[in-house]
Amino acid sequence: MPVLVMKFGGTSVATLDRIRRAAKRVGVEVAKGHDVIVIVSAMSGKTNELVGWVGETSPLYDAREYDAVVSSGENVTAGLMALTLQEMDVPARSWQGWQVPLRTTSAHSAARIEEIPTDNISAKFAEGMKVAVVAGFQGVSAEGRITTLGRGGSDTTAVAFAAAFEAERCDIYTDVDGVYTTDPRVSPKARKLDRIAFEEMLELASLGAKVLQTRSVELAMRYSVRLRVLSSFEEQSDDAGTLVCAEEDIVESNVVAGVAYSRDEAKMTLVSVADRPGIAATIFSALSDAGVNVDMIVQNISEEGRTDMTFSCPTDQVARAEAAMAEANGNIINFAELIADTDVAKVSVVGIGMRSHTGVAAKMFQCLSNEGINIKVITTSEIKISVLIDRKYMELAVQALHDAFELDKAA
Ligand code: ASP
Ligand code: MG
Repeated sequence: MPVLVMKFGGTSVATLDRIRRAAKRVGVEVAKGHDVIVIVSAMSGKTNELVGWVGETSPLYDAREYDAVVSSGENVTAGLMALTLQEMDVPARSWQGWQVPLRTTSAHSAARIEEIPTDNISAKFAEGMKVAVVAGFQGVSAEGRITTLGRGGSDTTAVAFAAAFEAERCDIYTDVDGVYTTDPRVSPKARKLDRIAFEEMLELASLGAKVLQTRSVELAMRYSVRLRVLSSFEEQSDDAGTLVCAEEDIVESNVVAGVAYSRDEAKMTLVSVADRPGIAATIFSALSDAGVNVDMIVQNISEEGRTDMTFSCPTDQVARAEAAMAEANGNIINFAELIADTDVAKVSVVGIGMRSHTGVAAKMFQCLSNEGINIKVITTSEIKISVLIDRKYMELAVQALHDAFELDKAA
């Protein structure tokens, strides 16, 4: 029987009533002849509460116990979902990560999936079980300890199951009805996309469009899992939501698919560093050792053997970056000053069409200039252009770019 993976996020299982509503959708797919693997998140707010309890109990907590605690939210919803399905006469049972067993690395709180054996669940399907309800976000390490996959990790659990079971599709039920050209809270003209390419979704996900965990999109792209994002609060239809799929499956698309933003960005400038081989390696090794996620990097032209080096990182890592740089500022790097600007935001336009169309950068910069917005840092990739600007202009920039690229109109 064809396998379908259905994932329900925290808001979709927030109450017993909503679990019932989700279970009904599962029942519909079972009636259509699917064997269904349901992946559940914790009830909304639960994981935050559990994380809070860990921090209050032990500020420098043991990461293995953190995982033991925060993984428990999903166990509750998995059991409740199985019970709800049983009440509807749908043969179902729950599975915690270790029972599958979903094997992961031992990197607690950020573990990676290594293997999902399919035999246990397949054997139950063969015996007549119709739904396997699996607790998302969790797994088990080689040491036999419970692990978690990082916040938002249930998306990744869902895609990994879809890949392992060669599922027809992986439906991600959430509280929005799909992927939009930009955040509808920022631009009222934002339009829901019917389809989006994996690469575009990957850029949008990592740029702060929080619909899907970035790793889930990476995994879907690697294993060609057709991923559909849809709302659990709206009527179901076969073309509901947004399909995240291969580029070949998209017939027509705009050059720019979407505008993304991130408020959580800081611009760090090392003033007057020596310009010679090994300096960049030393700076960025020190930052990497300190666990700083560097995003954009710009090196200025040098004057008299000195140059300025600018990079961006998440705002909550500024203190760590400053400490790492202060410590590394011996005779090797030897910078004059480190200036942290935490009042910036990153705005990006993304689209696979940029590979074959010129003029996107020119249009973007002209648009920002028309609004009187100064660009502080620019970076580009094959399908993305990002700029750092003053945070107070972020909304304006997103709206203006959305208009300039006419994203309210379908291709
Ligand atoms: N409950 C976990 C979280 O909030 C995992 C998930 O829902 O994806 O991060
Ligand atoms: Mg999520």
